Amino acid sequence: MGAGQVRTVLGDVDPKDLGRTMMHEHLLIGFGRWRREATGTHSSERMPQEHSDRRSNEPISLESRHWVAYYGRHPAEYRLDDEANAITEAQRFADAGGGTIVDVTNPDLTRQPQALARISRATGLHVVMGCGRYVGSNHPLDMDERNVDDLAREMIKDVTEGSDGTDIRSGIIGEIGTEYPVTENEARSLEAAALAQRETGAAVSIHPGRETRAPLAVMEILDRAGGDANRTIMGHVDRTLFATKDFLALAETGCYLEFDLFGQESSYYAHAPIDMPNDARRIDHIKELIAAGYGNRIVVSQDICQKTNLTKYGGHGYAHILENVVPMMLRKAMSETDIENVLVHNPARILTLAEKS
Ligand SMILES: [Zn+2]
Repeated sequence: MGAGQVRTVLGDVDPKDLGRTMMHEHLLIGFGRWRREATGTHSSERMPQEHSDRRSNEPISLESRHWVAYYGRHPAEYRLDDEANAITEAQRFADAGGGTIVDVTNPDLTRQPQALARISRATGLHVVMGCGRYVGSNHPLDMDERNVDDLAREMIKDVTEGSDGTDIRSGIIGEIGTEYPVTENEARSLEAAALAQRETGAAVSIHPGRETRAPLAVMEILDRAGGDANRTIMGHVDRTLFATKDFLALAETGCYLEFDLFGQESSYYAHAPIDMPNDARRIDHIKELIAAGYGNRIVVSQDICQKTNLTKYGGHGYAHILENVVPMMLRKAMSETDIENVLVHNPARILTLAEKS
């Protein structure tokens, strides 16, 4: 059922109809939904003294915008809850020639199936919805008691029957959140994702920990649980891997590499002492992978999840890749065929539901 099709919030569609696709976005999102003691790196509650001042208590303004975007420490920054504005922002992507948005917001990140369906209808964009569990600090309070089968059944139901009491179905498993080292609960959530992948034929999308070893550690757990690397997308590689050899080692597993932080060029990155690449450097890594023969394993996105990512707040918005990155790809001598693979054909292939295995 559904094999060979792509499952969107408005029903199954032909993979050829997707068009240019962003593989990792959030149209609406809220962290800390289950009110667990917030320790996650995305948590706006955890506001270190040195980055918190009067601007935290004022609405985001032109004057405070850079500070908010740089440190992410405004209490409203990591909350996208304005559906009307989500439509306006998504429409910019459609107007720039976009076709599909993969919204990997799972229940732990305050997924809203009906709102996604309304956004899809209003914009004419295909929207593929996620499922599964995010990183440990965002898990539901009863996560310790959930076994692998429980967790897998929940994902399978979301993909095959409907999500959150609706008949709106998920078309991708993820983003499945992990830290490094992977916690016990996160390992169970990964094993469940592998089971659900085999049962539904849907791809799995991973949020790895902020550590170079994290992606391979996740791939090992998925492999042991019977997961299919060829149906797995490793997200956030652009803030996790930096050396060519590490990109190639991950590509050798067979998974898709997702450069999904296009537009984020800040030197400060939520307490992780990393050198965040800029968009030009991301393209360099993509070109290296293409030269090494992995052109059919690269996808891109902008992971919009902060207010200051939105154009309304002076950010780059969902159309950034189409409007600004594609011209840079051409300038940096990526071929039109390679760009088409990254934007259209690779997403269509990985989003197409496989036969049950
Ligand atoms: Zn994300």
